[in-house]
Amino acid sequence: MDTKVLKVSDEGNFTAKEKKYLEEAAEILKNGGLVAFPTETVYGLGANALDEKAARKIYEAKGRPSDNPLIAHVADFEGLRPLVSRIPENGIKLAKAFWPGPMTLIFPKSDLVPLGTTGGLDTVAVRMPSDPVARELIRLAGVPVAAPSANTSGRPSPTRAEHVFQDMNGRIEMILDGGPVGIGVESTIVDVTEEIPVMLRPGAVTMEMLHEAVGEVRIDPAILGPVSPGLKPKAPGMKYRHYAPNADLTLVEGEEEKVVCEIKRLAAEKLKEGYKVGIICTDETRECYGGGLVRSIGERAKEETVAHNLYALLREFDDLGAQYIYSEGFPEDHLGQAIMNRLSKAAGYRIQKV
Ligand code: AMP
Ligand code: MG
Repeated sequence: MDTKVLKVSDEGNFTAKEKKYLEEAAEILKNGGLVAFPTETVYGLGANALDEKAARKIYEAKGRPSDNPLIAHVADFEGLRPLVSRIPENGIKLAKAFWPGPMTLIFPKSDLVPLGTTGGLDTVAVRMPSDPVARELIRLAGVPVAAPSANTSGRPSPTRAEHVFQDMNGRIEMILDGGPVGIGVESTIVDVTEEIPVMLRPGAVTMEMLHEAVGEVRIDPAILGPVSPGLKPKAPGMKYRHYAPNADLTLVEGEEEKVVCEIKRLAAEKLKEGYKVGIICTDETRECYGGGLVRSIGERAKEETVAHNLYALLREFDDLGAQYIYSEGFPEDHLGQAIMNRLSKAAGYRIQKV
């Protein structure tokens, strides 16, 4: 299959040519095909969420385990109603506060949503993205669009169309290239089927923001650490190796000076043994490092820059053939919770405290 790559500006005012591209993409979705498209979080791999056969193609293209459910993306509030059997009060509050935006809500599903989309669960994950390309595509398709991140299962999520092309060329009909995404980490997932909402995955809608909107929010244990064999995470995707570069990644946490010292020591050891070593530092600490492939992930003082660069940097280390990567850790409040959740998983929970 030839994968078409079409550029569509992410600003919202589409030219006649861009409108034609979007219509062509929507037509592919209507006919049961696959289109990758930008969202404000990461690039998504879209298919008609109501078409079980189309959803199966997503699992094939990604090599994704079939019990890992998909998020259905809608263009407006009217799109939500037919997908769910009930909208709990907290669901209404959270949707009103954060839609369109980087937040996914788990509802009890209606009969319209096939089990092939929900990984066999009787709940459905729904999100209304804010990205203009995503919204126009969903609107034109006229169906909810199931769209997991457009990467090969297990790899870092794509934040640029080039990343999607690396993983999906020849496997899908089309990639809409809207340039680099804004946020860079996947949506916050909140289960509103229970009395007290449960955060299943941290994202740019932070715990602090959720508290402000609905009061008490629980946190699924799968967010905090490795999933023990007896424990079933509520978001099935959380049990899989995820976001990972090819290299062995180790996180080093603690006081800044000690962290820098320890990373330098660990890197020097591996460099001496002849390995290719990557170092993930920040603008603030860039000057402290010498040997190895030293890359800044962003400004420590501006955590949104760190989220924005995270996956692109992990992919860059893959391209450079890094065998070991050492990364500085980050405080776990606000957006830092999402950053550390992704980094810890990418590191397979190899975390060194100093
Ligand atoms: P991705 O689209 O690749 O960002 O992954 C979607 C995430 O949403 C996975 O971790 C899924 O396990 C989670 N998810 C999707 N649907 C549900 C659901 N019905 N209940 C709980 N988690 C879900
Ligand atoms: Mg994913």
